[in-house]
Parts: sequence; structure tokens; C-alpha cells
Amino acid sequence: MKYTPHSKDQTPFSPREGQRSEPKQIAILGSTGSIGTQALQVIAAHPDRFAARVLTANNRWELLAEQARQFMPAAVVIANENYYPALRDSLADLPIAVYAGADALCQVVEGTEVDIVLTAMVGFAGLPPTIAAIKAGKPIALANKETMVVAGELINGLCRKYQVPILPVDSEHSAIFQSIMGEVSPIERIILTASGGPFRTFTREQLETVTPAMALKHPNWDMGAKITIDSASMMNKGFEVIEAKWLFGVEPDRIQVVVHPQSVVHSAVQFADGAVKAQLGVPDMRVPIQLAFSFPERLHSDFDRLDWFTMHDLTFERPDTERFRCLALAYESLQQGGNMPCIVNAANEIVNRAFLEGRCRFLEMADIIERTMQRATFIKQPSYEDYLETDKEARRIAAQLLQS
Ligand code: NAD
Ligand code: MG
Repeated sequence: MKYTPHSKDQTPFSPREGQRSEPKQIAILGSTGSIGTQALQVIAAHPDRFAARVLTANNRWELLAEQARQFMPAAVVIANENYYPALRDSLADLPIAVYAGADALCQVVEGTEVDIVLTAMVGFAGLPPTIAAIKAGKPIALANKETMVVAGELINGLCRKYQVPILPVDSEHSAIFQSIMGEVSPIERIILTASGGPFRTFTREQLETVTPAMALKHPNWDMGAKITIDSASMMNKGFEVIEAKWLFGVEPDRIQVVVHPQSVVHSAVQFADGAVKAQLGVPDMRVPIQLAFSFPERLHSDFDRLDWFTMHDLTFERPDTERFRCLALAYESLQQGGNMPCIVNAANEIVNRAFLEGRCRFLEMADIIERTMQRATFIKQPSYEDYLETDKEARRIAAQLLQS
């Protein structure tokens, strides 16, 4: 569902609902990750308002078991079935249902009574359970941006059909969402801020030799490995342009990426009269996570506040798409439309992992993505099954290109 300011009838939760006394039941897909663990901190800080009803992880069963013991959800899922026996045995003394496998992720969001599903898994794997949740009428707190990159149009259609709201968790999109709260006029321009990542000031020559360890040191945010590499290549920002298009119904030529190394302005919206509204704050993902859970209310938090007198220089630069070609490729994929963003996402997942494992050089990532875009089968109006096929095909092509 798009949050254009016109869509007054699309308010995700009525205020009355926000004030009810029962804690909101939350499913966290990917509870052991960076977003997932921060979401649990938010839940722990507001036990009267939120409860963790479903927790899931891919491999880290020990942490998942620990989380389950603390938060007592109705169900847990371990996607990697190899860890099922260990997880089941470790929770045998508790009344918690334990499931395993990718399909169980979909079944558990469909079958459990939850008020909101936080999609905090990484990559294309987030798409099927997000669709399952929407079809079951569960509101989505969207962290898994790859879902919107791959299939934004399809997701929007399903959200309309099943009357399901999407609350953005990505900090930029939360900032945009907060900037349009209360507005009735359309967006003229989105100003999507980017930190520029650890290589912002590097020359092309320097970029030739950067290592995964260097890329993993993000200046402002502490995130999972995949998104941290995507931030270094600026593919993350490209994905966020695509995410913004589908969430807010704004065409890419009206989404301006602005490099802002301090990450204090989390993004902004410009309106027809030239007025610009932004959301600012200390970089802390718990703020947008908490707002997605509590919307339309704001709850108290103990998170750090901005200190206006130590914040000397807020600077803004034009992004350089010559050095950071992934950003240009993401725009291009939007221009082409159809399954092209899905192709880019799949190729990116392959090269991102390869770079992390030392099998691909930094600048090579964009080359391989571009060549995959040229080779993969283009489909103008893809169905869900087409996306599954495209994902497989593009991964295969990117992996072959990587080897040759
Ligand atoms: P992460 O790697 O720290 O955690 C990922 C979580 O998903 C883990 O719990 C893992 O077990 C689970 N997971 C991974 N692959 C899975 C699979 N195939 N099946 C089932 N579960 C799987 O990642 P993260 O940094 O928390 O990012 C999660 C999502 O949120 C990503 O889409 C990312 O782009 C987005 N996001 C993250 C941040 C951030 O600050 N970390 C900010 C904005 C958006
Ligand atoms: Mg972001």
C-alpha cells in the first residue's frame, strides 16, 4: 500500500486500535540479525505494548533458543532444517511450537495470530513469507527491502487487494513516511540521504584494491554483513530508490540521492510550495522499528538525543555514479522496469557474497551485475512464478560470469 498523502483511507491503524490495552503481537522474521535483535530490544522496553509471538532464524539456533526462553513466543522457526533437532531439544521444557524449513516461515505467519510481521530477513528469501503474510491480512513492518526491489508492483497490488498496510523500517523510508504524516498534498521530490559508506572519498584506483574487512567498517551504522557491503558499493542506495518508488508512488526522476556523511538527516520530502520537511536524529534503527510497531503513536525511548551544539557540520554532496556504478545500475533497472530490478537483486546477492568471501573484486561487482542485466531473460510483466525463475536464472548467470 502506498502512503501518498492522498490516501487518507489507508491509515494503517486507527488511533483507537493504537490505544488498546492488549500488547501488540509481533512476528519477527530474522530475529537473530541486526534488525531482529534491535526489534527485540524495543519489545523488551515496552512489555505492556508489544509481545514477540513468532521468532525465526536461518542458522543461529542457539541465539534463537535463548531469545525464545526470554520472550516466550508461541512459535519459533529455524529455516535451516539441520538445526531443527538441536533447537527442538533445547526448548523441550517450554510450551513453544518449534518448526523448521523455509515453507514453515510462510505457514507460521499465516497460521499464528499476530498483529504485525517484521520482515527482517536478508535478500530474496524474504519475498515468499512477506507475500504469505500479506495474503493472511497481516500488516507488514518492512525491513527486507529486497522484497520491494524484486517485486514492488506485485506487493503493492497484493496490499491493495488484501487491505494490508506496509510500515517502512528502513531509516530513510521511515523518515520520508514521517515527513508526509499529516500532509494532504503530493510529494514534489524525495531527498534520499546516503552516508556514502566507508569508500566515499576513495578514488577509482583505491577502490580497485579495497578488501571486505575495509567494506565492513561502516562509519555510522552497525548492520548485517550483506547490507554493509551493499552500502559500501552504494547498491543499498540504489535499492532504496526502488523501495521509495513503490512505497510512496514517486517516479525515480523525482527521487534525488544526496550524500550526507553524518547520517543525521535521515531523508526529506519537498512539496509543491518548495517547503522541505525532513526527519533528523541520531543514527539508531530502533527509532524506525519502534515507530513501525507503535504507529500512529510515538512511544517514549531512552535512545540518545541529538546534541545540537556538537553537531557542527552537516554536509551534502552529489553522488558519484562513475565510482559507484551500482547506484546507476539500480536507476537503470527501474527505467527498464519489469523483472530487471529482480535480475539486479539476484546478481547482486551473488557478487556481494563473492566479494565478502574474497572471490570478487570490489569494482567487478558492478561489471558482473551489468552483464547479467544484458543476458538474463527480460519479462515486461512478470508474475510471481516469473520472479522465482528470474531469480534462479540471474543467479546462475552471475555465478558463471564470476568464474570466467
Ligand atoms: P542480518 O544478516 O543481521 O540478519 C538477517 C536475519 O535473517 C537473521 O536472523 C538470519 O537468521 C535471517 N535469515 C537470513 N537469511 C535467511 C533465509 N534464507 N531464511 C530465513 N532466515 C534468514 O541482516 P540485517 O542487517 O538485520 O538486515 C535484515 C534486512 O533489513 C535486510 O533486508 C536489510 O537490507 C534490511 N535493513 C537493515 C538495516 C540494518 O541496520 N541492519 C537497515 C535497513 C534495512
Ligand atoms: Mg537505509
